[in-house]
Amino acid sequence: MNCPRCDKVMTPVHPEGVEAQQCPQCEGHWLEGEDLRRLESTVNVRFLEWRKLPAEEVQTREVACPRCRPRAAMKKVRSERDRHVLLDVCERCHGVWLDGGELRAIQEMGFVTALADVFRFVTKD
Ligand SMILES: [Zn+2]
Ligand SMILES: [Zn+2]
Repeated sequence: MNCPRCDKVMTPVHPEGVEAQQCPQCEGHWLEGEDLRRLESTVNVRFLEWRKLPAEEVQTREVACPRCRPRAAMKKVRSERDRHVLLDVCERCHGVWLDGGELRAIQEMGFVTALADVFRFVTKD
């Protein structure tokens, strides 16, 4: 699977036994439903080094789902807790793209809250 931002081939990483795909260039992560649920129940998540979040200008740029064909633009979901965190969610496969740094920001606000934002969105209508 290729990074939705850089188009680099992503590599599987297994933080806390959860399967994710990581882009070697922008260090963003791709996560899917089952893995997101597992993360939700993980308390001590030690993901990656702190990275500065991408500029607002980069974050708000539209990205297409790396999984779905034909390519479909993902929806932007802004966390209610931390407005610097803007997640990209695919309405079709419910995969979630986290830019480099977002995972850490999510840890700091608490995964459950962050994921509640996402799931409220994907289960809406
Ligand atoms: Zn990338
Ligand atoms: Zn998708």
